[in-house]
Amino acid sequence: MSAMLTVDNLSIHYGVIQAVKNVSFEVNEGEVVTLIGANGAGKTSILRTISGLVRPSEGSISFLGESIEKAPARKIVANGLSQVPEGRHVFSGLTVMENLEMGAFLHNDREQNQKNLKMIFERFPRLEERKNQDAATLSGGEQQMLAMGRALMSRPKLLLLDEPSMGLAPIFIQEIFDIIQDIQKQGTTVLLVEQNANKALAIADRGYVLETGKIVLSGTGQELLASDEVRKAYLGG
Ligand code: ATP
Repeated sequence: MSAMLTVDNLSIHYGVIQAVKNVSFEVNEGEVVTLIGANGAGKTSILRTISGLVRPSEGSISFLGESIEKAPARKIVANGLSQVPEGRHVFSGLTVMENLEMGAFLHNDREQNQKNLKMIFERFPRLEERKNQDAATLSGGEQQMLAMGRALMSRPKLLLLDEPSMGLAPIFIQEIFDIIQDIQKQGTTVLLVEQNANKALAIADRGYVLETGKIVLSGTGQELLASDEVRKAYLGG
């Protein structure tokens, strides 16, 4: 079986600084795969490169059998890959509903969009309650839900999530991780970047540990949770 996403020997430079060093990993259809690592390990750089927002200095990325490391970002989205950026970035001045509609820009099938919207409101009832509210006035957790809902409106095959739990209250954090599992159950593959290693590994099928731009460890979520190295470095001993 070939992987849905294959990242092979990826390096990323910013000027003379090498942020990511010969990283290889894969994501198979139906999996939740997590990249964990401390601040500055290169997690966001990897996601942005997969999405076509940053160009690699070396290496290749293939998505559904097609090379995408030189493809324009809009083509990558059209192929079925959608990213929820760190810090959420909802469109302020637009309502919750308008934000969600923006997510469907690829699809002009109204009926399918309506169905999809209904599914998103079932998953995020809070968004439905607040559908006419300016997105900028949502709480942090609600904005994260909106950013995820908007990405799901594009009906991605692979969803990239960059630190969805960042800055959220514990009750929202649990909700977000429950929702990620739910998204997987509905058939969407997920690549999850997190500093919250504990929670991410608990729901991940597999994970990779990044340290200063390199993968230093990989395994199933359970293996990594049980690993002494991961416990010492990321889970507080
Ligand atoms: P965090 O968890 O703090 O978001 P991260 O693992 O996502 O960290 P990156 O944001 O990918 O890490 O950053 C990796 C390294 O690349 C860091 O040293 C960062 O300073 C550097 N870097 C990222 N973006 C740029 C940029 N546009 N220009 C220069 N250096 C950058």
